[in-house]
Amino acid sequence: MELNENARIDTSQVDDRRGSGGSGGMGIPIPIGGGRGGIVGIIIAVLVALVGGGFGLNAMNGGGGSEQGDNTSLQQKCSADDALQQLDCRNTAYVNSIQAYWRTALPEKFGEQYRPSRTVFFSRGVNTGCGQADSGVGPFYCPADDLVYIDLTFYRVLADQLGAEGEFAQPYVLAHEYGHHVQDLLGTEAQMRRQQQRDPDHANALSVKLELQADCYAGAWAKNATGTTDATGQKIFKSITEQDISQAIDTAEKIGDDAISERANRPVNPEEFTHGSSAQRKEWFSRGYDSGDPKSCDTFAGGR
Ligand SMILES: [Zn+2]
Repeated sequence: MELNENARIDTSQVDDRRGSGGSGGMGIPIPIGGGRGGIVGIIIAVLVALVGGGFGLNAMNGGGGSEQGDNTSLQQKCSADDALQQLDCRNTAYVNSIQAYWRTALPEKFGEQYRPSRTVFFSRGVNTGCGQADSGVGPFYCPADDLVYIDLTFYRVLADQLGAEGEFAQPYVLAHEYGHHVQDLLGTEAQMRRQQQRDPDHANALSVKLELQADCYAGAWAKNATGTTDATGQKIFKSITEQDISQAIDTAEKIGDDAISERANRPVNPEEFTHGSSAQRKEWFSRGYDSGDPKSCDTFAGGR
């Protein structure tokens, strides 16, 4: 994978709140995971069992209310010559590409206008429209404020604790979260929540469908990513290789609910799955990638 150094990195699509804290007292945990909760992440919460330490699952309820970060230093950094050496600037470029894709694809495929959503970079803890969260929950999307949240140190957890290495794991994670934003815009997410309320026995199974669809949307983006451009028409990616796609598929496998349970030495219980098995996650990312068409991501139509 090679990003294009001539493309302009649009930092207005992120909100840099690192260092601004977002800590608070102990309280009621934010509803996490796809089960019945308010936020949708990329990973099952049992991750915590693996990580521990300063990365614990102590999500707190701070009453929400999003504060604005300060993008000044990020903006400077991402317009410098070595911007693509910087993790945060590269991730901003990935966000740019993912949103450029949906700006075209959403009207074209679903007849809906795309509404941009910023990605909040935070460290340790953050106040969100869904309550207060800490890094332990992993990257997530909050439907209440339409924002994607990520502590970029998550990628180290992904590599060190879960064995998912490779740069392309990063855009995959972000594209998955933007998949949730698209589900929000299309009403899929709200529909799924209503279905969960009507049929609580299948709440987890419904969550799996939502998550696999987000994986599939990530695959559709990956297929079309080299066609995405910045505001001046410069291509954001120079190239994406087969190896990159293999890394994304490998990541999807490593964060399957069964894989994570096994790593945490927990029994694998498919009824408790909220994100899908390794095989399913791999299958749906690949389906999106192979077709390059988000309309093929019909996880709710059965055929799993
Ligand atoms: Zn998710």
